[in-house]
Amino acid sequence: MSKEFSSRLLAWFDKHGRHDLPWQLEQTPYRVWISEIMLQQTQVMTVIPYFERFIKEFPNVEALAKANLDNVLHLWTGLGYYARARNCFKAAKTIVEDYKGQFPCTLDEMMALPGIGRSTAGAILSLAREKRHPILDGNVKRVLSRYHGIEGWSGKKQVEDELWSYAEAHTPSDDSVRDYTQAIMDLGATICVRRNPDCQACPFTTSCFAKKTGRQHEFPASKPKKIIPDRETVFAIIENNKGEVLLQQRPPTGIWGGLWCFPEFSSNELMAGEIKKQFACKIKQQTKYKSFKHTFSHFHLKIKPVHIRLEGQVNRVNDEGLSQWVSPAENSKLGFPAPVVSLLKELNNKKVVLNES
Ligand code: SF4
Repeated sequence: MSKEFSSRLLAWFDKHGRHDLPWQLEQTPYRVWISEIMLQQTQVMTVIPYFERFIKEFPNVEALAKANLDNVLHLWTGLGYYARARNCFKAAKTIVEDYKGQFPCTLDEMMALPGIGRSTAGAILSLAREKRHPILDGNVKRVLSRYHGIEGWSGKKQVEDELWSYAEAHTPSDDSVRDYTQAIMDLGATICVRRNPDCQACPFTTSCFAKKTGRQHEFPASKPKKIIPDRETVFAIIENNKGEVLLQQRPPTGIWGGLWCFPEFSSNELMAGEIKKQFACKIKQQTKYKSFKHTFSHFHLKIKPVHIRLEGQVNRVNDEGLSQWVSPAENSKLGFPAPVVSLLKELNNKKVVLNES
């Protein structure tokens, strides 16, 4: 059964697979690694320009290890899930310091690097080194759970173990493992897609359990729904007399770790008191902008932006480089979370929407 699975898939891949994605042109462990990390939670077409910019700036692991984290986060701005970028940066340093710049060759060593799980390690070893290792990313989980009719959410250990054992059984020997790995990812990304899979174009149209039973939309089972809480924050857009706004770097770990944000407060009252304390000048104007929601995996954040224009010469204590005045018009090389990018753009274009109340 497994030989037949891989043979059918490889025959389909020869004719219909993707062979010219930017990371396929030169499949070094470094390029495969960066592409695999970017592709987690993100679609290929979105990743391509980010990958190309990243590789241009950091063409190899040494360049990434020597980089400034701000610059790494800047090139990741808009992709989200910034822990991925911070982990790449940390892992690059480990590869240079502990492995003399060469990627480790074993699955265990690879998985010991920050941000590299079993599937990513398998993808790097199979695509860049042609070693027989299975992968199980979101696309592969979808194909295998439909093909075999695997019930249950893949976040459950038992379901995941079953998927891994099928992934292991279907993975062919070293000489065709690279094509097979790319093929199963391609099938999930282009044919066996989440909504409306194109079963007529699939090499498994006659043997797939979900197709035979008409239950394609039941696999893979969704994650059980959890109600996530709402939180609120005030973004203080503090503007000095030169038209620059104040940004602060967040702590290196946690939400938006290492990114640059507007100072945050839990209420307008606290904000007003704190600003008076920190800046030896008066508030010339205070404008409330329309609030908006940003959703994280574990909570919704209601963001209430308030624009504060300060009067006169602005003095502020130097807090060891963790604050910067930035012009919204400047193409700053810092990493920003998506809500800050939108607000800076709107401020620059003078298109910020006012609060109706
Ligand atoms: S037959 Fe349809 S559901 Fe089954 S693997 Fe192919 S595309 Fe997916």
